[in-house]
Amino acid sequence: MKTWVFVEETNGAPAPVGLELLTKARDLGEVSAVFLGSSDEAIAELGRFGASAVYKLTPAEGSFPAAAAAAALSELATAEQPDLILFGLTYTDRDVAGRVSVRLGRPIVSNASDIKADGDSIVATNEIFGGTVRVETAVRAEAPALVIARPKSFNAEPGGEQTPAVTEVALPDVGHAGSASVTAVHVEKSEGPKLEEADIVVSGGRGLGAAEKFELMEQLADKLGAATGATRAVVDAGWVAYSKQVGQTGKTVKPNVYIACGISGAMQHLVGMKDSGTIIAVNKDPDAPIFDVADLGIVGDLHQVIPKLLEALP
Ligand SMILES: Cc1cc2nc3c(=O)[nH]c(=O)nc-3n(C[C@H](O)[C@H](O)[C@H](O)COP(=O)(O)OP(=O)(O)OC[C@H]3O[C@@H](n4cnc5c(N)ncnc54)[C@H](O)[C@@H]3O)c2cc1C
Repeated sequence: MKTWVFVEETNGAPAPVGLELLTKARDLGEVSAVFLGSSDEAIAELGRFGASAVYKLTPAEGSFPAAAAAAALSELATAEQPDLILFGLTYTDRDVAGRVSVRLGRPIVSNASDIKADGDSIVATNEIFGGTVRVETAVRAEAPALVIARPKSFNAEPGGEQTPAVTEVALPDVGHAGSASVTAVHVEKSEGPKLEEADIVVSGGRGLGAAEKFELMEQLADKLGAATGATRAVVDAGWVAYSKQVGQTGKTVKPNVYIACGISGAMQHLVGMKDSGTIIAVNKDPDAPIFDVADLGIVGDLHQVIPKLLEALP
């Protein structure tokens, strides 16, 4: 099986989901990366994760490259005929994948949490109804199969180390579709580890009661070297930024420890954190559904429990 993984460069490195997909792709056979970026160090990293070849698509400074990248990738795929092209569930990847789907006239399976080969078919797994039901979809269309996978579905592990053969691919002129440009980049200020990459996540829900109480989550996160997360209820209330939302319409996290405070455990939240290593829940309602997935539960008022925990921690 010839698998291509589309990988965008973010902050000079391959996007984390790209490395996760390269790791998975190694199970399926021969792996190449289609890299949207310019960093040589990032390309070397793709080799460390098993890419034997890298197609390098370098966008012009300040351009919005999805349309041109999709055109280049579609031409490449027509010429080289991979069996499968994998994308991550990120803004750029989805933009490119959708355009490739149209250009090649192939269906696309999105939101996959697993991928395997079954004879000549690619089979993608999707979790539906908030992760309570798994559906397997076999792609019967002509190759390449196009699959967009959820971040954190696979662990990124180096392997199959090699120095990839790099092919520079020019981005074609796609006219009006490629004329958008990036005029400003707003980087949200954040301290501590990134939510998607943190080893420990401390998340707060509506049970906090007020925006200023989110500070309790920040203090606990500070002590633990953790990132803070939140439910959609908290984000919708404007207590914290959307970038902290964990769940179906937010981020998927898989830390070693996930501490859920004042979170009921709605399935749309669980789908974004249920694969965490150890889940600890603090909720005053003993029947809260979060306790169904928690490894450790504290039934109590978080406004009493968390300050005590802060006192007890060095
Ligand atoms: C299409 C769709 C997509 C969605 N996507 C997401 C998503 O990505 N992420 C997400 O989180 N939600 C999402 N939701 C919303 C989701 O259904 C829930 O409404 C939301 O997760 C509830 O947030 P919560 O647990 O903070 O609030 P609630 O459900 O109101 O729960 C608050 C909990 O706090 C407890 N509590 C109250 N006071 C205290 C206290 N003093 N001490 C301890 N515990 C206390 C209560 O017992 C309760 O269990 C989505 C919904 C839809 C329809």
